[in-house]
Amino acid sequence: MDTSPLTAAFAAAQTLAGLVKRLADDQADVLANDHLIAIQSAVIDLQGKLLAAQAVENDLLAEIASLKAKLRFNDYEPVRTPDGAFILRLKPAVAEAAGLPPHAICHVCAERGVLAYLHREDSSSADTHYHWYRCLTCGRSFADSTTPELGPV
Ligand SMILES: [Zn+2]
Repeated sequence: MDTSPLTAAFAAAQTLAGLVKRLADDQADVLANDHLIAIQSAVIDLQGKLLAAQAVENDLLAEIASLKAKLRFNDYEPVRTPDGAFILRLKPAVAEAAGLPPHAICHVCAERGVLAYLHREDSSSADTHYHWYRCLTCGRSFADSTTPELGPV
């Protein structure tokens, strides 16, 4: 079974502590010199294992940050827009439970881990009324004429 870098570092530290104790107990200079060389070797080994443990810790912290970033989008569900794209709408049950206003976010920005609210924009003339959502982060627009249940953002 492989040992973790942290476990290996602790074992190396124990070896080092044992060598120091033997050095302190030794009365003969020749043996003390041998123990000093062994201690230097153990210190180098310990430093290598600590660096490996630090790399593992950094990888784990990056993974945790990535998972936290993904979790923030679990409260949203994809909704197809009339132009065939998708927006991510806050799930109605979440909005009600958390007391949040209905809103949608940009799925393109969400793929990059960015929570970007979509802003509602309108264009009206005498015969037509058209509204859409625009992401101010990436600049994309999403037609909204068939998703009036979203309400204003
Ligand atoms: Zn966007």
